[in-house]
Amino acid sequence: MEAVRRVWGYDTLRPLQAASIEAGVSGRDCLTVLPTGGGKSLCYQVPPLVTGKATVVISPLIALMRDQVRGLKLNGYEAGALHSALDREDAREIESRLLRGDLLLVLAAPERALTSGFCALLAKLHDAGRLGAIAIDEAHCISQWGHDFRPEYRRLVELRRIAPGVGMQAFTATATPRVREDIVRQLGLEDAEVLVGSFDRPNLTYRVRHRRDAAEQTIEAVRAMHDRGEGGGAIVYCLSRADTERLAESLRVAGLDARAYHAGMDKGPRHDVERAFTNESLDVVVATVAFGMGIDRSNVRLVVHACLPKSVEAYQQEAGRAGRDGLGAECLLLAAPSDGSRWERLILRSASESGADPSAQLALLDDVRRFAGALLCRHRALCEYFGQSYEPENCGACDVCLGETREESDSAVLAQKLMSGVARTGQRYGAGYVADVLRGAVTDDVVARGHNALSVFGLLAKRSRKEIMVLLDQLVALGALRADEHRVLRFGARGVAVMKGEAGVRLAAPLGVRGAGSERRRERGRVVDAAPLTIEEREVFERLRGLRKRIAEESEVPPYVVFSDATLREMARLLPRSPEQLLEVKGVGRRKLEMFGEAFLEEIVAGAGG
Ligand code: ADP
Ligand code: ZN
Repeated sequence: MEAVRRVWGYDTLRPLQAASIEAGVSGRDCLTVLPTGGGKSLCYQVPPLVTGKATVVISPLIALMRDQVRGLKLNGYEAGALHSALDREDAREIESRLLRGDLLLVLAAPERALTSGFCALLAKLHDAGRLGAIAIDEAHCISQWGHDFRPEYRRLVELRRIAPGVGMQAFTATATPRVREDIVRQLGLEDAEVLVGSFDRPNLTYRVRHRRDAAEQTIEAVRAMHDRGEGGGAIVYCLSRADTERLAESLRVAGLDARAYHAGMDKGPRHDVERAFTNESLDVVVATVAFGMGIDRSNVRLVVHACLPKSVEAYQQEAGRAGRDGLGAECLLLAAPSDGSRWERLILRSASESGADPSAQLALLDDVRRFAGALLCRHRALCEYFGQSYEPENCGACDVCLGETREESDSAVLAQKLMSGVARTGQRYGAGYVADVLRGAVTDDVVARGHNALSVFGLLAKRSRKEIMVLLDQLVALGALRADEHRVLRFGARGVAVMKGEAGVRLAAPLGVRGAGSERRRERGRVVDAAPLTIEEREVFERLRGLRKRIAEESEVPPYVVFSDATLREMARLLPRSPEQLLEVKGVGRRKLEMFGEAFLEEIVAGAGG
């Protein structure tokens, strides 16, 4: 704890950090599962300071490694990173410092860690009794059931043979019980302590909306973020590369500074976007899921999914990039009936190309459709998905608990009507056609097939085509219907029960489907453990952000590495006038005080009018 206070300036450890650090210090095997932003890095950074022995960290993302090393340096903590982008000279330098004992933490990419050179280094360290622990970051990469499988992770167990008796600590943010077991087994963790933190992210507000118009709804959300005046960034996720370009363009037309990002872009421009977002000269990125893996900006205030994600794990991971600094942030998921079938086609196509079995992927897709379609507290649904219970009756931070969704007054009967529409037309058509029949549209197709004579024709005459499609999609999500690869709706596993009115279905009224005006306004930006700043405080905060940006540019580090938003807020509120007072602020350690203290104190004095 002494070390944590001195180096990082934190006065308490987060839940499970103490236990995880303790495992690292005493050399026990351990798996730590903490959500994004839970503070996993600290768990492997502290033990070397206590034991004086080196920790080797396996981590897959070069960009993050570099930022981490720079960030530690600012705290006066020497660390090194070994990866393919490093030249020979620098790598050798790191290795010799490690052997001399003046470097206690080294991060290495998995492919690097498996080279003979690295294994020899590890063996030397071990023989000299200087190797304290091996840490595996992003350990879910080892499992096919995780969302980011990397085959080279499977070979990391070899490191154990090189360094027998050295404890191995694995870390991950997303792990269903199945992935957890996989990690323990494949890394050969012995008597491993498994520390599972709470998956809930109370500072995130989740909302699921019907996607009316992705551009319009996204623009509204980004403007609301700007209006709250908290600064910070927004990530908008799209399914395809073309979608990112199109949506980014729409945002620009609306006057927002937004850029697209996807894996099909050239390295140069892609890198520019990453860098601009990280150093806060760009606040809105419209991206495929390729964006974010290497991005570590802690003040992302908004994550929009412009399309259903492909699994709940992926959602937790992507939405989890919001609010890593612990302050309030918004997660908005825009979904439409076509999303599920679009994913299905992609999954089936890639399965037929690779010859892999698509059933696991399809099952994960069903789960996320259920998540989006259900009228259940989002915080609760996410916790339960990851095998945890959720206590609060009302989370106060999701569309369901905030009363922004409305349930259909007679869900069971409505569901029966919808199911009849599918049944009477012979389970042979897609949602659009079934909707036409149910609303009583006299189209050429309907007439040609004689469906205008059916008893279900016009059964839901008051509803729009779109609305009926949204309702049908919910039935798919609930397992009452399923859509085959041609998007034809058929009865699903729970179809008969729903038809008989025995399933207790709850259907959400499709809010905002008819038109823009009917959706209720909601701009209750909820901020956990931080009341909104007053106008004066916000002015100081903005000045401090400006200063932080200048310092970050000079020292070529991302701004959050200098100080987090949470730290700047606290400064703006407490207005420390002396180095001692500044040291009281969470996130200010001795080293940073020495380096930046004066500059920030001056800015505070200037900002607060002397
Ligand atoms: P993870 O790797 O689990 O996603 P990080 O290790 O990046 O999370 O930590 C997230 C943020 O929380 C960082 O800004 C970090 O400085 C901060 N943090 C970690 N531990 C503590 C603590 N004990 N007290 C205050 N802030 C902390
Ligand atoms: Zn809720």
